[in-house]
Amino acid sequence: MKYTPQVVYTREELREALAQLSGKRGLVMTMGALHAGHLSLVKYARERCDHVVVTVFVNPTQFAPGEDFDAYPRTLEADVEALGRVQADLVFAPSTEQMYPHGDARVTIDPGPTAQVLEGETRPTHFAGVCLVVNKVLNMVRPEVAVFGQKDAQQLAIIRQMVRDLDMGVEIVGAPIVRDSDGLALSSRNAYLSAAQRSQALVLSRALEAGRTAASAGASAADIVTRTRTVMASEPAADLDYVALVDPVTFLPIKRGEGVLAVAAKIGSTRLIDNTLLEVSDD
Ligand code: AMP
Repeated sequence: MKYTPQVVYTREELREALAQLSGKRGLVMTMGALHAGHLSLVKYARERCDHVVVTVFVNPTQFAPGEDFDAYPRTLEADVEALGRVQADLVFAPSTEQMYPHGDARVTIDPGPTAQVLEGETRPTHFAGVCLVVNKVLNMVRPEVAVFGQKDAQQLAIIRQMVRDLDMGVEIVGAPIVRDSDGLALSSRNAYLSAAQRSQALVLSRALEAGRTAASAGASAADIVTRTRTVMASEPAADLDYVALVDPVTFLPIKRGEGVLAVAAKIGSTRLIDNTLLEVSDD
C-alpha cells in the first residue's frame, strides 16, 4: 500500500505530531520542488535516526528583492508523494505567517565572515536569512541530526560554524551532491531552464571536472582555477559570477590541501551553483 507521510502546516500541529514520535529525530530542510538530491538527504537521515522530519518552506528572508522568491516552484503535493517513497515520517509545510508570526525578526544572526565571500558577495543578505530560518526550525523540531547538501557547500560550512559557535547541540551531516547522468547537479532551479539552456548549463560540471583533472595531475591552485575558468569561458551562454578554490571551512582561497572548487554562473536569468571537493598537492 502507498505510504503517505503526515503533513502539518502550523506550529501547533507540528508540536502535537512531534510529541507522537519517540526516538532519535533527523531533520531535512528544503524549499520544496523536490528532486533526487533532496531525497538522498532523507535517506541519510533515515540511516541515522528513528524518525525523519522534512520541512518544505520557501523562506522569504533568504531572498533579496528582485530574486526569484515569487517564481520559485511550489509543488507540495508531488513533494509529499516523493517523501512517501523515501519513508519520511512528518512533513512541515508552514506558511510565511506561521514561520514569522510576529513579522520581521528583531533579533537576527550574523553569519560571520564566511558569509561575506563568494555567494555572500552576490547575495549579501542571503546567509543571514538562511541562519535565521535554520535556527527557528531547529528550535521547533529539536532534532538530534540535521542533514544538509554539499551542493550548497558555503551554506553547509556556515551552518556547521553556527552550530559549533553557538553550542546548538545538533549533529550536522553533509551529504554528497546528486547529479543527473550527464553531470548536471540537481537543483530545483533547473526547472527554469529551457532544453537549450539545460545543455549550456552542463558547462559548470564540465569546468569542475577539468579542475579536478588538473588537481589530480598535480597542478597548482592558480592553474586549477585557470583551467576551470577556461572551460567556463568556452560556453558563451554562461555569464560567470565566480570560480574559486577555497578552504572548506572559511571559504577563503587556498594554495594547497583540501579545497572546495566552486563555480557560480547565470544561464539566461537562472543563477546556478556547483562545486567539488579536491586536494591540491602542488607547493
Ligand atoms: P533547497 O531546497 O535548494 O533549499 O535545498 C535543500 C537541501 O537540499 C539543502 O541542504 C541542499 O544543499 C540540498 N540539495 C539541493 N540539491 C542537492 C543535490 N543535487 N544533491 C544533494 N543535496 C542537494
